[in-house]
Amino acid sequence: MKNPYIALVGGDLRYVYLAERLSGLGFQVCCFFLKHPSLQNHIHQNFDDFRDGLPFCATVLLPIPVCRSGLTLNAPLYEGEKPELPLLLSAVGKGAVVLGGAPSAAVRQTLADKELPFTDLLELDEVAEQNAVPTAEGAAALAMELLPITLHGARCAVLGAGRCGLALAKLLSAMGATVTLTARRPEQLAAVAAMGFSPLETGLLYTKGADFDIVFNTVPAPVLDARTLASLAPGAPVVELASAPGGIDLDYASSHGVKVVQAPGLPGKVAPKTAADILCGAIVPLLQERGISL
Ligand code: NAP
Repeated sequence: MKNPYIALVGGDLRYVYLAERLSGLGFQVCCFFLKHPSLQNHIHQNFDDFRDGLPFCATVLLPIPVCRSGLTLNAPLYEGEKPELPLLLSAVGKGAVVLGGAPSAAVRQTLADKELPFTDLLELDEVAEQNAVPTAEGAAALAMELLPITLHGARCAVLGAGRCGLALAKLLSAMGATVTLTARRPEQLAAVAAMGFSPLETGLLYTKGADFDIVFNTVPAPVLDARTLASLAPGAPVVELASAPGGIDLDYASSHGVKVVQAPGLPGKVAPKTAADILCGAIVPLLQERGISL
């Protein structure tokens, strides 16, 4: 199907960069609930009502995350009233390709109720792999703000030796930190050791908790339980990188004075242009696969 109209609906600064990138490739970009002074005139953005333009777009790009609370569209750059997702989706044309990121269960259900097949861009391997780099940089920057010591020489624990964990361990190590990288599988622990990091089984962090100046969690499962949190050195911050609900027992942390810093959406915050390039690199081939061409 030839239809160059792509709707960018809500979203943050990375969608502003993405609008420019997609427009540069020849797409007719239509922005709804997304306003920014740097959006150029060739981007369509002056719709009186989303119902006037949205039905004609073959591709609809919802924000990341689609909604921050309930079913209200996540549109931080739009000052007016933000729409509720069910109403917004009623205007999406039949057969449209609907993309976005990090939908809650309620968002997924709403999309299913409207019979709109949805692709979570953050779950695409090429996006997750590349996002690990800005995530690691953002986490390191955060650690520099949080710690009263340099990262050079700091004793860091990184939980989870997946994409984000590995990228962060490499970066911290390159900055002179001493890095313990945890994993749950024996073969992964062996790989961690071969890469020069101190390996530790994730479930055994409590045996060494007091040894770290800072702990980063990338495991999306409850690994920082009460016993583990109780073992940490007093004042050592714990940075949550895993997506909600994360891996930290927040009730225990708040009632026992453990400093937890939530750090969601780092690529979009610390490197919105890079984040847009990563998304663009995934969206264009995906649309070609779905038969949408300019
Ligand atoms: P990933 O490559 O799948 O890595 C996740 C790691 O967690 C894997 O090593 C996995 O081990 C481990 N793991 C999963 N369940 C576990 C459990 N029950 N016990 C112990 N280990 C477990 O994922 P990723 O791309 O690194 O992303 C990690 C998290 O960060 C996700 O929640 C993702 O959504 C989030 N994220 C956040 C940001 C941000 O800005 N904060 C940016 C990107 C991603 P196995 O290999 O053994 O399964």
